[in-house]
Order: sequence, then structure tokens, then C-alpha cells
Amino acid sequence: MNNAPTLADCRALDAQDPLRALRDLFFIPEGTIYLDGNSLGVMPRSAPARVAEVVTQEWGTDLIQSWNKHGWFAQPKKVGDKIARLIGAEPGTVVATDSTSVNLFKVLSAAMDLASVDHPKRRRIVSERSNFPTDLYIAEALCQQHGFELMLVEPEEIPAALTPEVAVLMLTHVNYRTGAMHDMPAITAAAHATGALMLWDLAHSAGAVPVDLTGAGADYAVGCGYKYLNGGPGAPAFVWVNPRHADRFWQPLAGWWGHATPFEFTPDYRPAPGITRYQCGTQPMISLAALECGVDTLLAAEAHGGMAALRTKSLALTDLFIELVDERCQGHGHGIGLATPLDPTERGSQVCLTKDEGAYAIVQALIARGVVGDFRAGDGQRHKDILRFGFTPLYIGFEDVWNAADQLRQVLETGEWRRAEFNTKHAVT
Ligand SMILES: *Cc1c(COP(=O)(O)O)cnc(C)c1O
Repeated sequence: MNNAPTLADCRALDAQDPLRALRDLFFIPEGTIYLDGNSLGVMPRSAPARVAEVVTQEWGTDLIQSWNKHGWFAQPKKVGDKIARLIGAEPGTVVATDSTSVNLFKVLSAAMDLASVDHPKRRRIVSERSNFPTDLYIAEALCQQHGFELMLVEPEEIPAALTPEVAVLMLTHVNYRTGAMHDMPAITAAAHATGALMLWDLAHSAGAVPVDLTGAGADYAVGCGYKYLNGGPGAPAFVWVNPRHADRFWQPLAGWWGHATPFEFTPDYRPAPGITRYQCGTQPMISLAALECGVDTLLAAEAHGGMAALRTKSLALTDLFIELVDERCQGHGHGIGLATPLDPTERGSQVCLTKDEGAYAIVQALIARGVVGDFRAGDGQRHKDILRFGFTPLYIGFEDVWNAADQLRQVLETGEWRRAEFNTKHAVT
């Protein structure tokens, strides 16, 4: 018996989808089903003209006057305020700036300084072993510098790791490799109950799932501009600090953009109040313009139910993909497994499949067929090699999901992934 949705069912779901029109905000290459918006979001149609305007008019013609005339100087905070609406942050508490790695350096350092004063005996950072490596590298470097230790645990070990030695619990909300999502309010409360500060990385959450930093009472957060925010390659990232901490410490990259009165050019540093001090130096205006176009695509969804509606659709898309892969590919001796939680409350906006052999080549064969996902290497132990598919509800439809699952079925059934051309690794996977 077969109750799985048919192609006609999927088309009917698209026809009823209240978010369907938002797809027109994007340029999606002909013949492509793009399931990698979790790695690099697609281009908003508004971006080329807006970037051209910044280049030719603001830079080319208005030149230095643009800092005032076109609001360049305030742009990081203006875009930050727009991002704030997506992550449950108050206006004036988010700034779009620098990269995720650099912002993490700033907030983790500030958190360690705060803990050193409030809880001098706490000298441990706890994070997840399968966190995105750059987060762990930054933490490792800061621990060396501050004489702290970094303790890495598996997700199920987090509660037991919250001992009186812990200064900061630093987690990525949605795991980049498995798509598993932490319970932000519960874990934040558990960290606080033991006296630790809570730092969240929202790289795979902002614009993908509803986030309420204020409601959770978190302490610090960072996130990425080029993934679900569709800000373009190398787009500025963002940083949030709970207002209760923002004025207590300097962040270590005390550049002039974080100064209280930068245009007095005083020789001594006086940090600006609030999130402004988390800026460092001059920001990339062309990239910020593109990022704003990307963030605006998410704000356009506010008229159609906003992040809650995007979440409903995202879960419907990922549920459908899991079901179709199960029905059409699994159980046919192909050895496909599921690394993403089945429980929707524990799932981000991606589906990760496992395969012992050929995961990389299968992804390459799918890309050749126009279905773009990506591959993440396993660790040979707990984590298997992964075929990763991001489902961005702004521009992915139900028919796309059906086609993606069907292309995967064909790649597996034909065995075409075994061809040499799909088995040569590129520098970037
Ligand atoms: C994508 C991602 C980053 C990226 O950091 P960059 O500084 O932009 O290179 C960092 N952390 C996590 C968890 C990510 O998913």
C-alpha cells in the first residue's frame, strides 16, 4: 500500500501555499532546484540594481558625502534592527557587522570577562563536539589566551556538563551537520540555573526558524548573513548582546566605530553605549546593501504570517522530503539513513541523509541533474558522511521537493554516482 503524496498532491500544496508569491522575489537559475540556501542563499532580484546604485550613485557620484547623505554610517545598525525582528531582539540591540567568526570572538571574550568578575572560579567553556569548527577554534584560541579550558560534549551530555566550573555554555542552535535543533528556552534556563552565561550561534536559525532571544533570556548571540538571510557571498554577519550586559564590558576589538564619539578623534577609547561598541572598523557598504536586500525578503514574509508561517511551511517541506525519500529510495537496498530528527520540535530547516559509501558522489550526481545540495564529511565514528539538503520556505515549493526526491531515486537506481567524474573531490564541498 502506498499513501505517500503524489506529484499531483505536491502541485496542489503549492497552489494553496500562502507564501508561494515570495518565490518571485528571487532569481533562481533555470532548471535548478536549490537546496543549499543553508550554505549560500539565492540572490534576491532586488540586489543587482541596489548594489549597482550603491556603486554608481552613492560611491561613484556622491562619494564621501554618502556617509551622511545615504546613511552609510548607520547602515550596520539599520540592517541590525531589521534582523532583530527575525530573532526576538529589541530594536537597537543588534548590529550587522564583520563575520560570524569575528563576532563570536567579540562576544565570547566579553562573556569570559564578565564571568571573570562575577564568577572568578568559573574558568570553563562548554560546547558541542559537533559544533561548526570555526566556533570551536575561536573558543580554543580564547581559552588559551585567558587561561580557560574548553570542554566538548555530545548533546545528551550537556545537562551533566553544567557544573559550577562553567562560565559560558556556547551552542549553535541548529546543528550544521545534522539539522538537529536545541530547545533554546530550556537550555538557556538550565545554563542560568547553574550560573553560566548562554551564548547562541544562530547561523542556521536566523531566517530559518522562529527565534526569541529576549523571551529565552539569552546572554549573547551571533549569526550569519549569507545563509538563510540571503545576503550574498561573504555578507556581514550579526551580533546581539542582551542589554543587561552590553554596557558592562568592552569587547576586545575596540576600534573607532565602537567609540562613543568617533569623530572627536580622541586618543583614548571610550566605548559607545549598547550594541554600538560591538562595531570595530569601517564596514563594507556594498555588501551591507546586498544583505539588506536579503533581509528584506524575509521581512516581506511578515505580511503572510512571518517566521511562524515560514516555519509551518519549512516543516511541511522537510516532512515531505523525509517521507518521499523513505518511500521512494529507502528500503530499496540503497542504505540511505536519516541524520535529522523526525520530531519536528527538534528539527531545523534541513534534512540530512547518511550513506556509508558514495555520499559525496551522489551529491555530485544530483548537482549534475540540477538538484543542488551539499556533502559534509563524517568523523568516521559517531557521525557518518552526510548528504545535506536545506529547505528554504521562501523559495522552495512542494513540487521541488517531489522532484528532488525523484532525482535522488534515479541517481541511486541507475548507480550513475559511481562514475569517475562524480568521485573527484573539489576544494570546497
Ligand atoms: C556558517 C557558519 C559559520 C560561518 O562563519 P564565518 O565567519 O562566516 O566563516 C560560523 N558558525 C556556524 C555555526 C556556521 O554554521
